[in-house]
Amino acid sequence: MKPIPYGKQEITQADIEAVITTLQSDFWTQGPKIAEFEEKFAQYVGAKYAVAVANGTAALHISALALGVQENVNVITSPLTFVASANCVRYAGGNIFFADIEEDTLLLDLEKVEKLILSKPLGFFQGIIPVDFAGKAVNLEKTKKLAEKYNLWILEDACHAPGGYFIDSKGQKQFCGNGNFADLAIFSFHPVKHIACGEGGMITTNRQELYEKLLLLRTHGITKKPELLQENHGGWYYEMQTLGYNYRLTDLQCALGMSQLQRAKENLKKRHQIALRYQKAFENLPYLKILPYDEGHAYHLYIIQTEKRKELYDFLKTKNIFCQVHYIPVHWQPYYQSLGFRKGDLPVVENYYEKCLSLPMYPTLTEEEQNYVIEQIKCFFEK
Ligand SMILES: *Cc1c(COP(=O)(O)O)cnc(C)c1O
Repeated sequence: MKPIPYGKQEITQADIEAVITTLQSDFWTQGPKIAEFEEKFAQYVGAKYAVAVANGTAALHISALALGVQENVNVITSPLTFVASANCVRYAGGNIFFADIEEDTLLLDLEKVEKLILSKPLGFFQGIIPVDFAGKAVNLEKTKKLAEKYNLWILEDACHAPGGYFIDSKGQKQFCGNGNFADLAIFSFHPVKHIACGEGGMITTNRQELYEKLLLLRTHGITKKPELLQENHGGWYYEMQTLGYNYRLTDLQCALGMSQLQRAKENLKKRHQIALRYQKAFENLPYLKILPYDEGHAYHLYIIQTEKRKELYDFLKTKNIFCQVHYIPVHWQPYYQSLGFRKGDLPVVENYYEKCLSLPMYPTLTEEEQNYVIEQIKCFFEK
């Protein structure tokens, strides 16, 4: 069996042709593909505005800035995420706090969030960064209720969840990143994610004033829009109105992203087929814990939990199956330890971390490969 990784990008002839066509065009960057990709992506998730940026981390950084993070601004996030979800607050000079997760969804536990809020003076926290971990959609309707109660903004880290949704109290599907509850949502187009650009990111929102701020922050704080200028010296004139960055996504990457986006729905279906096959295989095994199947899950990751995680990880490696662990709790990282966070602070995520393993999950994983993975896992426990 060829090596089977936990995640993998897919490239088609159409993707290659889309990139070549753009390579042969007049614009490699700052051209027409960017607005096209933004519009199509906004449509896909059901948001009004989208801003394409260099990567998911850049998306988080300028989102934090647009939401007003600076020194003495305090923000809550999940410890079960990629470090970037927390780092963005630090980039902007703010302070990050972690609340524990729920055991049965692996998402931020809103009761723990409220407890954390109440442990500080009123008005201490300004924002919350919920994460659609593994592709499971956060119930943002409930999150929004809490956010309104304590006057917090919401930045949804939806990197794992394009196409994912939760069902709201009226029975409606609410897609990740649709902007109906969160102020901003961010996505990544790193090759292990659903849609790949090499590197790439997107911010979605329904709030026009935030959208305008993000456009400025993406390109050095510079604008040429006549209606925004303080003066106007002529056709060449631009103003740098705030301290921004070069966080642009190139036209080449947008062309690739758009081509990939066309298959996103179909690929999400494939992820569900794979999840259902794992689900069926592992449902009744006493030595594995899995979460129930969820139609609104985007299945970026398929995670099992076992007491013998390390042994299983090492065994599968000898069988050419390369699993991964998502994630080491962020507050355990030496940098965050140096800020005063301690092991033992968040027992639910810490207990989860000792047991979790992400199995191969990507649209081109064949049934034969998946059967091999399932067989080897059973073989490990039953041998
Ligand atoms: C991938 C990822 C990011 C960062 O995205 P990059 O494009 O790699 O910068 C942030 N948050 C989560 C949850 C991610 O999975």
